[in-house]
Amino acid sequence: MGETLFTNVSVIDGTGAKPFDATVRVQGNRIMAVTPGGAVDGAGAEIVDGGGTTLMPGLTDAHAHLSFLDAATLGDINALSAERHILETAKNARKMLDHGFTSMFSGSSARDNLEVALRDAINAGDIPGPRLKAATRQMTVTGGFGDIGREDAYSLVLDGPEAFRKACRAAARAGVDTFKIVPSAMGSGSDPLAEDTAMSDDEVAAVCAVARQRNRMVAAHARSADAVKMCVRNGVQVIYHATLADEEAKDMLEARRDSVFVAPAMGLPYGRLTEGEKYGVSTDDFTRARAEKEIETVSATMADLRKRGIRVLPGGDYGFKWNPHGRNARDLHMFVELFGFTPLEAIQAATQAGGELMGEPGCLGVIAEGAFADLLLVDGDPTKDIAILQDPDRFLAIMKDGAFHKAPPENRAGQQVAAE
Ligand SMILES: [Zn+2]
Repeated sequence: MGETLFTNVSVIDGTGAKPFDATVRVQGNRIMAVTPGGAVDGAGAEIVDGGGTTLMPGLTDAHAHLSFLDAATLGDINALSAERHILETAKNARKMLDHGFTSMFSGSSARDNLEVALRDAINAGDIPGPRLKAATRQMTVTGGFGDIGREDAYSLVLDGPEAFRKACRAAARAGVDTFKIVPSAMGSGSDPLAEDTAMSDDEVAAVCAVARQRNRMVAAHARSADAVKMCVRNGVQVIYHATLADEEAKDMLEARRDSVFVAPAMGLPYGRLTEGEKYGVSTDDFTRARAEKEIETVSATMADLRKRGIRVLPGGDYGFKWNPHGRNARDLHMFVELFGFTPLEAIQAATQAGGELMGEPGCLGVIAEGAFADLLLVDGDPTKDIAILQDPDRFLAIMKDGAFHKAPPENRAGQQVAAE
C-alpha cells in the first residue's frame, strides 16, 4: 500500500485549533499519523517536503449544483441535451477538485438520476471528482419558486403529501442521498425581500417521513421565517438561506444545533453585486435592492447563529453566469468579511463541519489519525489571508482519498526515505 509523508508543514487540522508544525503520514486512503514537530519515521514512504507551507483538509461545499452549467436564467439550466448535460457536469466535478473542494453536498440536481450516475462514476474511479452527496431535482409546488411552467425543467412540481411521498420513494429507489425541497417562494409587495411560504406542513412531513425510513437527508430552500420553522419542526437537517429567520426560528435552530446545518448560500446576491459586471450581467433596481437587503439581513442572522453555536457552512449556489463554478471558496471570504468568523473558524466550517454534513464526523474534513486523506498543500497561510483559497495556483498538491489529484511539484516530491 502506498505511503506518503508530508514533512515540514504547518497543519491546520480543521478543528479550529491553531496551526502547528507536524509531519503527516498517509497510508492507503487514510491518515495514519500526525506527529507534531519534525520527526520523520517514514521508511519506504514517498516524501513531500512542504517547505513550511500549509497542509489542511480538503474543502466541502454545502450547497452545490454541479449540473447547473453557469446558466444565465433558470430556464437555461436544462437547455442542453441530457447527453451533453452529463458530460458538462462531469467537467464541473473535475473543476471542483482543481479548486480544492474534495466534498460537495448537493443543493439539487438539474435532472433525475444525473448526480447518482456522476457520484457512482466518481466513486468507481472512472472520472475525477469530489465526494458527492447526490440530490433529487428540487421539489417545489405549483407556483412555488422553481416552477417555471415546464415539465422538463430543473424543478419537479408536486402538490400534496401523496405526490411528495411517491417522488421521494422513487428517488430513494434511484439511489439519491438527499431530498431537496422548496418550502418558500418569492413574495409579492413592496418589500424586495418578501417571501411567502409555499409548501404545506403535511408535504414537508411526508418528505421527512420517507427520509427517516430510508436513511436519507432532507435539505430545504427556506427563506421565510415560517418555512424555516416548518422545516426544523419536521426534522429537515439542512436549512438553506434562512433569510428571514426570526427569533423563534433561531431559537428552534439552536435547540436542534447538534442535528441541523445552515448554509446561507449567498453567492448569487453577492456575486451579482460584486462580479456581475465582470460576467456581463445587468441588474435592475429591484434586483439590486433585493440583493443588498439580503446581504445585510443574512449577514446579521448568520453572525447570530454562529454565536449560538449552530453550524453555519459555506456553499453558495455556484453554477450561474455571474456566480460560476470555481468561485466557491469566495464563500469563506464572505464568512470572514460579513459574518464575523475568524479565518480559522471559516476553515473549520468548510472542513470539520463539512465532514459532519457529509455523514463522516471526525473522519472527513479533519487531519487526525484514522481520518480520510483528503488534503490540500497550500502555498501561504490562509489563516492570515483567507482569499488565497480562491486561487487554484496556490494549491501545490491536492489529495483525495489518499491519491493525488494534483501531484506536488517536483522540487517538493519524489524523495524516498531509505528502508533501514
Ligand atoms: Zn441552490
